Amino acid sequence: MDIKELEKEYIIDTYGRQPEATLLIERGEGVYVWDDGGRRYLDFVSGLAVNNLGHCHPQVVEAVRRQAGCLMHTSNLYYTRQQTLLAERLVQLSCAKKVFFCNSGTETNEAAIKLARKYGKQVKGGDAYEIITAYRSFHGRTLASLTATGQPKYHKGFEPLVPGFRYAHFNDLQSFAEQVTEKTAAILVEPVQGEGGVYPAAPEFLQGLRRLCDEHNLLLIFDEVQCGMGRTGKLFAYEHYGVEPDIFTLAKALGGGLPIGVMAAGEKAADILAPGEHASTFGGNSVVCAAAHAVLDVLTGEGFLEHVARLGEYFTGRLQELSPVKTREIRSLGLMIGLEMTEGAADCARLCQEEGLLVNCIGGKILRFLPPLIITEEHVDAAICILQNVFDRLP
Ligand SMILES: *Cc1c(COP(=O)(O)O)cnc(C)c1O
Repeated sequence: MDIKELEKEYIIDTYGRQPEATLLIERGEGVYVWDDGGRRYLDFVSGLAVNNLGHCHPQVVEAVRRQAGCLMHTSNLYYTRQQTLLAERLVQLSCAKKVFFCNSGTETNEAAIKLARKYGKQVKGGDAYEIITAYRSFHGRTLASLTATGQPKYHKGFEPLVPGFRYAHFNDLQSFAEQVTEKTAAILVEPVQGEGGVYPAAPEFLQGLRRLCDEHNLLLIFDEVQCGMGRTGKLFAYEHYGVEPDIFTLAKALGGGLPIGVMAAGEKAADILAPGEHASTFGGNSVVCAAAHAVLDVLTGEGFLEHVARLGEYFTGRLQELSPVKTREIRSLGLMIGLEMTEGAADCARLCQEEGLLVNCIGGKILRFLPPLIITEEHVDAAICILQNVFDRLP
């Protein structure tokens, strides 16, 4: 039977896939994917910032093959080599002192929320369990991470939400300061808001949050699930800001296409959780950790992050040459780029796909570009050419 018909029959419809409009993707290589008709597309969605090295990167494929034939999984009751060495490497590359492994972005924020509550009780004493997050943020879909997500449209229908969350306006330090009470344990933000529409933080905002957290003895938590792992031209987005968080969370691109999540904890947070207080069956699985090692090998290779920064500037510059009439604003950090249109962004994304370019559309008005970090100027030029054609076709 036809896959699209089977999907309709057997998969709960949370993604709104449409037989006429949604591609069936069969294969990927580098910056391209192919559909079931053998048609090739330039993939500027990258599995939503997962395929930062493109599809089936040979070093990742080889690492997975080798590890799959040696040891795939054993319980966290035991020591494993890949996991421990990956932890050491992440700590050496960042401001973290220790890490916790899980399997997704949602889970890593869930771990950070639990840690913050324990910190509030243990370090601040009394009843400090509140976490302040930003409007327009995205932190995940489980009940606590969903509550942390400051977008009412995702909350609707799932009330009652988890107690202990307050919201403030992104890039507005005063708004965050106003939400701090004696019950506050932590502040959680994305250095670049992703799902909310690609909004980079202003440096003074994150620096101000750092000061606010220090003054009130709060944990500063950065969700780098989307903006981490080289996406912005630095390995971690916080490096752009001269601000070190107490916790940062990673997932998406870290496993090169396999599921992994990491909660990385600095000095203030590294020793809050005790044995038995948190766990994950698959967390830090040997295969996914081997894949993550290969991803880090590439990302930390000579000149790689400079390439990302350069291509980010090139792409953003070329987008600025497109129609000033249809463009309201372009926001970017490295290769995390949002183009807010005056109208017609959903049509634009659909027409791009028809022309062989995959881009994501947020909320009907923002085109989000998350190309593989391995793109070259030629790939950007090809995408710009398609976008120009599509813009010309729009009313
Ligand atoms: C995607 C995303 C998440 C959720 O990650 P999952 O792996 O889908 O659970 C959390 N935070 C941010 C910033 C994200 O972009």
